[in-house]
Amino acid sequence: MPVYSLNTSISYLKGVGPNRADLLKSELGIFTFGDLLNFFPNRYIDRTQFFKISQLQQNSAEIQIVGKITNIKTVKQKRGSRLVATFRDETGAMELVWFRGAKWIKDTLKINEPYVIFGKTNHFNGLFSMPHPEMELVVDYKKNLRSAMQPVYPSTEKLVNKGISNRVVSKMIQSLFEELGAKFLETLSTPMVEELKLISKTEALFNIHFPKNQELLTKAQRRLKFEELYFIQLQLIRKKLVRKAKIKGFNFTEVGEKFNGFYTNNLPFSLTNAQKRVLKEIRKDLGSNAQMNRLLQGDVGSGKTIVALLTMLIALDNGFQAALMAPTEILAAQHFNSIEELLSGLNINVKLLTGSVKTKQRRIIHSELESGELDILIGTHALIEDKVKFKNLGIAIIDEQHRFGVAQRSKMWQKNTLPPHILVMTATPIPRTLAMSVYGDLDISVIDELPPGRKEIKTAHRYDSNRLSVFKFLREEITKGRQVYIVYPLINESEAMDYKDLMDGYESVVREFPSPNYQVSIVHGKMKPADKEYEMQRFIKGETQIMVATTVIEVGVNIPNASVMVIESAERFGLSQLHQLRGRVGRGAEQSYCILMTSFKLSSDGKTRLNTMVDTSDGFKIAEVDLKLRGPGNLMGTQQSGVLNLKIADIIKDSGILKTARRIAIETLTIDPALNSSENLPIRRAYQKISKNSTIWSNIS
Ligand code: ADP
Ligand code: MG
Repeated sequence: MPVYSLNTSISYLKGVGPNRADLLKSELGIFTFGDLLNFFPNRYIDRTQFFKISQLQQNSAEIQIVGKITNIKTVKQKRGSRLVATFRDETGAMELVWFRGAKWIKDTLKINEPYVIFGKTNHFNGLFSMPHPEMELVVDYKKNLRSAMQPVYPSTEKLVNKGISNRVVSKMIQSLFEELGAKFLETLSTPMVEELKLISKTEALFNIHFPKNQELLTKAQRRLKFEELYFIQLQLIRKKLVRKAKIKGFNFTEVGEKFNGFYTNNLPFSLTNAQKRVLKEIRKDLGSNAQMNRLLQGDVGSGKTIVALLTMLIALDNGFQAALMAPTEILAAQHFNSIEELLSGLNINVKLLTGSVKTKQRRIIHSELESGELDILIGTHALIEDKVKFKNLGIAIIDEQHRFGVAQRSKMWQKNTLPPHILVMTATPIPRTLAMSVYGDLDISVIDELPPGRKEIKTAHRYDSNRLSVFKFLREEITKGRQVYIVYPLINESEAMDYKDLMDGYESVVREFPSPNYQVSIVHGKMKPADKEYEMQRFIKGETQIMVATTVIEVGVNIPNASVMVIESAERFGLSQLHQLRGRVGRGAEQSYCILMTSFKLSSDGKTRLNTMVDTSDGFKIAEVDLKLRGPGNLMGTQQSGVLNLKIADIIKDSGILKTARRIAIETLTIDPALNSSENLPIRRAYQKISKNSTIWSNIS
């Protein structure tokens, strides 16, 4: 008798064999006994509930009914025949239908004996029918010990076609429990199980597959969800602790002349409380002897740039260089311009490095970087090229970090013997639960307050048929001296068509707003950087009143006099993109407007997005809606993160459990960082197994 373990290949399981094993592997990723054990149902059917025929409704889910067969007939059809049985209870009659195996089934059916039938019903010509019911004589039904909640496992069409039905999977799992003796190692510590009132691992696994009742099922789900989220948090937090312990960081003890000089003489406004708080958090990191790895979240316009600049000045005060990386040339140039202006008179050497910087200037930058003359380098990913060598890079700040890949980000680490401190800034807020899961290994700061005096941006949804009145409104605003953005979607799949839309749009705008009274700029991705920059500058200087653009202006651009944002085909943009675009206006003292243009044809998600934009300008609220609409896997930056391949927990629905899991994981590691205590032995064992196969460790920010 072979000894089975969780690592045993699934092909050794009774009833599986090589063919089915191949299918289980390719269709469901089930390779071993353990994989099958952890293959959980995605729903359950309550088999404690019985229906009467008179209660049947169209489109009902699977149901069960008790009744008797009163008549059986074979009906000829085009190909072969079908078997039709009349099934009655005291409230009415319906039909049971078999299209396959009619002959064989006919002989097994008993007339006038009570049956329990189970399945989905159809409704046709006033009569209900149930094709291929699962059925059992009531006498047998009563004899069988069964679970009241019948599990339904995820499946694929191929599996069903190859005969691996839900019932077959259930049977496999039953054999699995028999072979394995239905006893499983505990993975959590006893005090934890007691404190959280969790059921044991063995009990949970049993009840997730064979729930005795709804109450035990709920307990099993809660236990397994907690466990799943707990081990993810344990890995993320442990990764953070290990990094802090192992990776020494430059210790920036000084807050000196440059920081203080800027703060007292050059800071054009007083910082908001949120900015001050975040700066304090950053300063604490920088003086902690460990490398900072912090995520700075803040809504559009919340003032992240000034925080970045002040952070860089601390590095300078301690004799180090600083770098600021942005995802586009426009944004990098803009950061450069505003930072250069902010620093004027302070004798700090700042330079811009992008793909379009000429060789001569590039050489100057390279040599000044290596000699240490250059204090702050701002640029695009040109900044992480191997040729770019710093004398002593103390901090790297990455703006709109989701646009950079993991590899690009980690390259920053290698710019020095000791990794520089890293501050990543997001353009769009991330819901807390998602941030906990995806960036759980980073420290997180949030600017949750906008600078004072900002007026709410008035947002409206207009149909294309209202275009004339929209143009009229634009004319009025331009007459008042305002500037206008008109943005077109550019989505790669249909680039040629989008480009045509943009050009058609541009032409119609020029027709409506003819020179010499009006000047119109255009910026799109196909233009040369120099041309883009030229057009941007014309708009920035106020020489043009309208900027027709694709989403290249999405990130970061800051032009306070631009107060109207028109978004064409707004239904094609995602929520976070719409929010970003709207954030381009409302930066000056004037009342600003955002007009979302769409056709009449809108999907229900599209409507939700537009309504959300009209209803709120709170980036965190918008992010929550976005998460609900699209699910965690589609939000920025999460694709590369292994933490979202959850088996049973749901980041949105189980946010309460997630918060508990994080709290407990922090507790565990604070008390016993190496998981050495005997109490934590189960955790340690499970942790080692999980982290061996985990992608979380490679996901360095
Ligand atoms: P974001 O967080 O979107 O990057 P920015 O850093 O571009 O925002 O700041 C948006 C605008 O708000 C800029 O014009 C900036 O000068 C201004 N700003 C930032 N902080 C303050 C403040 N504390 N008081 C007033 N204006 C501020
Ligand atoms: Mg910004």
